[in-house]
Amino acid sequence: MPTDELVQRLRRFREHAFPHYRAAFRELVADGQRPTTLFIGCSDSRLVPHLLTGAGPGELFLVRNVGAFVPPYDQSFGFHGTAAAIEFAVLSLGVARIVVCGHSHCGAIRALYEQVPEAAQNLRRWLELGRDAVLPVAQPGPEAMRRSEQRSVVLQLERLMAYPMVRERVEARALTLHGWHYVIEDGEVLVFDVDRGRFVAAAAAGHAGTGPYLDYDEPLPPPMP
Ligand SMILES: [Zn+2]
Repeated sequence: MPTDELVQRLRRFREHAFPHYRAAFRELVADGQRPTTLFIGCSDSRLVPHLLTGAGPGELFLVRNVGAFVPPYDQSFGFHGTAAAIEFAVLSLGVARIVVCGHSHCGAIRALYEQVPEAAQNLRRWLELGRDAVLPVAQPGPEAMRRSEQRSVVLQLERLMAYPMVRERVEARALTLHGWHYVIEDGEVLVFDVDRGRFVAAAAAGHAGTGPYLDYDEPLPPPMP
């Protein structure tokens, strides 16, 4: 009889948690999923999208990767899991919102300032998707890190707009884009306000991040205050 911790957790879920959700899951199976939001988040274990948003089963279509990056829309059509998820969420699920969520103390952004192990060739290549967010400093302090993390979120939103199905729906006002920066230690999400060109605490924001990025000329917030 296996008694490792993971299997114990699986049993606990089945016995104690699942009964509370049984009806909801069965309905989602019978009717199919209809999530309204595609959430593109960093893989960081401290970012817990369901905790942040209070979302339950069936509400968020999640794609997570190192850095919460969006690869360029690429007509070579390779093995791009994130690009495939974007296409599926927009074209098949018809989501109404796309959230790109970066966070404080992001190892992916930090790695852009440091050496990545030679053997991590896929990682090295992948991190290039955040390169334009890097500031011209050798050793980024907390403020430079925060600004780099936020610049990266905006960069990914810009890249999202190059997906034809995203742009089309955004322009038709059927889809909004939201850039978030989650400050882990404060439990606070800062949302990107496209009109003001900066991130604003959700507590003080009148919206969850302004889309649709139609008239946003500046590709990134200014590098330093
Ligand atoms: Zn991260």
